[in-house]
Amino acid sequence: MKGVVIGGGIVGLSSALELAERGVDVTVCEQGSIGTGSTERSVGGIRAQFSTPINVELSRESMRVWNEFTERFDAEIDYRKTGYLFLARSEETAAAFEERVAMQNDRGVRSEVLDPAEACEICSGIDPDQFVAATYSPTDGFADPHLALQAYARAAAAAGVDVRTQTPVSDVIRAGDRDRGDGTGGARVMGVETPDGRLDADIVVNAAGPWASDIAAMADVFLPITPKRRQIAVVQPETPVPETDPLTVDLESGSYFRPDRDGDALVGGHFADNDPASDPDGYPRSMDFEWSIDALEAAAEWTTYFGPESAVKRGWAGLYAVTPDDTAIVEETIPGFITAAGFSGHGFQHAPATGQLVAELAVDGEASLLGIDALSSDRFEGTDEEKAAGRTERNVV
Ligand SMILES: Cc1cc2nc3c(=O)[nH]c(=O)nc-3n(C[C@H](O)[C@H](O)[C@H](O)COP(=O)(O)OP(=O)(O)OC[C@H]3O[C@@H](n4cnc5c(N)ncnc54)[C@H](O)[C@@H]3O)c2cc1C
Repeated sequence: MKGVVIGGGIVGLSSALELAERGVDVTVCEQGSIGTGSTERSVGGIRAQFSTPINVELSRESMRVWNEFTERFDAEIDYRKTGYLFLARSEETAAAFEERVAMQNDRGVRSEVLDPAEACEICSGIDPDQFVAATYSPTDGFADPHLALQAYARAAAAAGVDVRTQTPVSDVIRAGDRDRGDGTGGARVMGVETPDGRLDADIVVNAAGPWASDIAAMADVFLPITPKRRQIAVVQPETPVPETDPLTVDLESGSYFRPDRDGDALVGGHFADNDPASDPDGYPRSMDFEWSIDALEAAAEWTTYFGPESAVKRGWAGLYAVTPDDTAIVEETIPGFITAAGFSGHGFQHAPATGQLVAELAVDGEASLLGIDALSSDRFEGTDEEKAAGRTERNVV
């Protein structure tokens, strides 16, 4: 079996590795270099505390890989399990916390609901008076996305994957493609066009991150995946942030931070819910100064770390590939064309399980690692415009 994976980010490389390990002859087409996309611009968060069962299950299965990553890939990825701490300001959110933790516990996650004083014991820099409840899971954490991506690239190449950088896919070929436009185009995807010519394939995987809807359009498929710009600031706080602090999120404001090294912190936040779509080929990749001031002020509102002597050292912007319900699409969208995209800010951590699911879909024709009905694009109803509109779950990190 021949496979082409479009995209040399962590989802594409994980998929390529898993396909190769199941005997598929795989070529990865990456338009730029390894790391051109969102993966290297991520915060590297890995958590099982999600509000929907499917995301918890993707995390649970991915964490099996993250936990053994160093041994399997012979690579250090600076995986630090200092937990995630979510904070609630309202009784409504606190009630939702109870339900979420019960759902997570049912799936083997060791998360728990804490009162503000208990949360303070885990992260001493928060102001407990502003919150009514928290959730914490000690096995959540974060890793270095650059190191993880390079490890996946090396492992894929060692497994026999032909990783081609500077190789943009310009079209996705369907059976009867030459007749496309006359209503006679065939259904099955047969390969892709590249500057080096056509690559025939039994299976084509769309792992193009923020470009995924463009790739889908090449196959005459609509996917409601929108690129949205997100920013991160690296801050030297007035009071050093302990390296043992969890990734801590004020859920209702969207403000969050996590420790970096030597007392520094990464600070982020989504302060505009309906921010416009960004052009993945042309968006500003540097951090906006005004945004960094807002992010720092927001973090200073509920923590003791980010007083007036804090300094923004640097920062960057990247793209989330967002679906209407902030959950990925993983499916065989049309015969021979597998979608693994729309991770909505969770794609770094969910790449290991996704690679396995893609390989199962390609080789076995169905997923067995976990049930993936909730990842089907059929869940979005209405016209293409209606599908693209609206969001149901507030996204964090
Ligand atoms: C600021 C920020 C913070 C984040 N924090 C987290 C976090 O804490 N935890 C987490 O899990 N996730 C996080 N994410 C999300 C995460 O980065 C993404 O979900 C993940 O990297 C997606 O990986 P990917 O392989 O699907 O996409 P990408 O890494 O974007 O890779 C897609 C690749 O496809 C290539 N491509 C596109 N079009 C073509 C074409 N025509 N031909 C060939 N190649 C093509 C691109 O060049 C790109 O390299 C964050 C993202 C941002 C921006």
